[in-house]
Amino acid sequence: MRLSNRVNRVVCVAAVLGACLAAGNAAAQDSANADAVKHLSSTYVADGDTWLRGNIHTHSTESDGSLPPQEVVNYYAKLGYDFLMISDHEKLTPVAGLDGKGMTLIPGSEISAKGQHLLHVGANTHVLPDPDRQKVLDLIKQDGGIAVMNHPNWQASYNHCSLEVLNTLQGYTGIEIFNGVVVYLDGSELATDKWDRLLAKGRRIYGFATDDCHNPEQHAGMGWVMVQSKSRAVDDIVNAMRDGRFYASTGVAFEMIKVDGLTVTVRAANAQRFRVCADNGKVLKMADGPDLQYTVKPGKGLTYIRIEGYGPGEQTAWLQPMFIE
Ligand SMILES: [Zn+2]
Ligand SMILES: [Zn+2]
Repeated sequence: MRLSNRVNRVVCVAAVLGACLAAGNAAAQDSANADAVKHLSSTYVADGDTWLRGNIHTHSTESDGSLPPQEVVNYYAKLGYDFLMISDHEKLTPVAGLDGKGMTLIPGSEISAKGQHLLHVGANTHVLPDPDRQKVLDLIKQDGGIAVMNHPNWQASYNHCSLEVLNTLQGYTGIEIFNGVVVYLDGSELATDKWDRLLAKGRRIYGFATDDCHNPEQHAGMGWVMVQSKSRAVDDIVNAMRDGRFYASTGVAFEMIKVDGLTVTVRAANAQRFRVCADNGKVLKMADGPDLQYTVKPGKGLTYIRIEGYGPGEQTAWLQPMFIE
């Protein structure tokens, strides 16, 4: 009886201890799982692909540009670009007959009549302007190309394309966060404010920099994209942009973009300063270049982070958002 009681007690203590250990392990496991599922989702690939420099917003004499298409191509080739899209207003300027001078020529247009301007990138068919921009976006999707909403903060209103419209429209790949020609016009060439508002809602929208070149002497080489592409083929370049494998630049060049769990490591030799931004444009960190390592603290309720690099003068580069998943 006594012995039996003692045995029972020992079993009981062991059971409680076991339960405690099990509970402790479960708690540890839960927190490990919580950390394990949280990571930064990057659009960039580790290596293997080539970085190509291109401008997807250029006009020629086929609309309101100063030079004929071939001369525009010649001008950009001399600047060392890898690809170019001639984006005339309401016109799919034929590029098949042009000499690319070593560059890939991407067919496309700028749809600008009857509403907000947008680029049709990698166009197979000519999409006509419709005041219902959702219809235009649907046609671009059917065509197989991608759509980029242009210069959202152009004009004296600083509101060519409002946040409300950007929130409502579906199916566009990105917005111009830098548009070169607007430097010379009313409004702001930048639109990272609207970009951050869209991203904070979880929208996968990518940031583009373009020249919107009307006169190469004045506008060529202001803003471009660096695309991480499998090859120089049109489809590979367009698909890389569709998937966000590019960054926008006005001069800063990233050499390394590495993501591991919740940590991002970047290097840009000509970046003197970095900013890490998050939801609605909140600045999480500012640091001197050319190297940056940043780890997201879990539990802050952030949707994404993105990194900007600042070089000499007005040179900047904007990485695509990395969503916290
Ligand atoms: Zn425009
Ligand atoms: Zn334009």
